[in-house]
Amino acid sequence: MAGRNHLYVPGPTNIPTEILSAMNVDSQDHRSPIFPDLLKPLLADLKKVFKTETGQAFIFPATGTAGWEIALTNTLSPGDKVLIYRFGQFSHLWAAMAKRLGLDVEVVERPWGEGIPLDDLETRLKADGRHTIKAVLATHNETATGVTSDIGGVRKAMDAAGHPALLFVDGVSSIASIDFRMDEWGVDGAISGSQKGFMLPAGGAFVAFSQKALKATESATFPRCFLDLKDQMAANKDGYTPYTPSIPMLHGLRKALDLLFAEGLDAVYARHARLAAGVRKAVAAWGLENCAKPGFESNTVTAVVVPAEKDARAVISTAFSKYNISLGAGLTEVAGKVFRIGHVGDMNDVSILGALAGVEMALLDNGFTIKPGSGVAAALEYYRATAG
Ligand SMILES: *Cc1c(COP(=O)(O)O)cnc(C)c1O
Repeated sequence: MAGRNHLYVPGPTNIPTEILSAMNVDSQDHRSPIFPDLLKPLLADLKKVFKTETGQAFIFPATGTAGWEIALTNTLSPGDKVLIYRFGQFSHLWAAMAKRLGLDVEVVERPWGEGIPLDDLETRLKADGRHTIKAVLATHNETATGVTSDIGGVRKAMDAAGHPALLFVDGVSSIASIDFRMDEWGVDGAISGSQKGFMLPAGGAFVAFSQKALKATESATFPRCFLDLKDQMAANKDGYTPYTPSIPMLHGLRKALDLLFAEGLDAVYARHARLAAGVRKAVAAWGLENCAKPGFESNTVTAVVVPAEKDARAVISTAFSKYNISLGAGLTEVAGKVFRIGHVGDMNDVSILGALAGVEMALLDNGFTIKPGSGVAAALEYYRATAG
């Protein structure tokens, strides 16, 4: 099909040409004396994105999934108890990993469309008077349902219960696009990946750990090798890595961080919030429902619920084959029930309007009774009224 494929999945996201160009580099010796000039500033600058001064950032040649495993295996031991709320495919997979590793996992089921219930968390932690729960696993932005949880509130609930558990946060689809404050929120392990807000290809797990978490690595007995933080720390100290890094990824990350800082992190968050608000106006104008319940709406992805007699897969399929746009599918429990519009990363008003126009055509083709142009009109009026 002529013209480009328009990518509106919530990861991998569109890669700005400047980043693609920056990644087009010759191979380089990662043992050379100049390699630390590349790595050291990257690790220091990642901390600014995580908003940590006291923690330490790491880059693994891996993906977000590895980030979960890095947090669990480096700080815990087999049989340790962890608490996790399950309300979408990503919180589901993290809980499943914890079980497969041999942790004692307390999984609390929540409706898909809601996030972490703070009162319930506080109650559960208070009930754990002997502090058997070693870590709380929190999914900041549940990408499957477009739900954002209140991590500052999670910290408050933990403090109110006087509970010493570690707090690990999956920020794969929030960090670098939704406000995230590692130190202020007392996050012990923050997990992100390269292919969402960082606008890079997949293949980079970007993580940061608090001093408390780093201390926990000393007593953690899970076997670990490739994902061992100790090996990273030993090599990173002098600006090197324990094994061969992806050189293009590092150069791409340099450019991505430069772009994020040039725009300003607060401006990046505000842009995502504004674009997301326009998408929500379009969804309302179509008379469709947001999977996220009020108060939980994500600024990086919107999962749109289709009426029970419709199959969201048909919308996604038409959008791809007829209009060359890629939308996110509904995963497992919401398969066929939702389609997702990713509005994360390198996006602006017109790119979102393209997504909405493509969705409208696919909805009309699939017999949805919507007024042509209604969603686009709602969003464009909002964007015009709020343009900087
Ligand atoms: C994408 C995503 C992951 C998984 O990341 P991979 O890079 O595919 O391993 C984990 N958690 C969330 C919230 C995500 O959006």
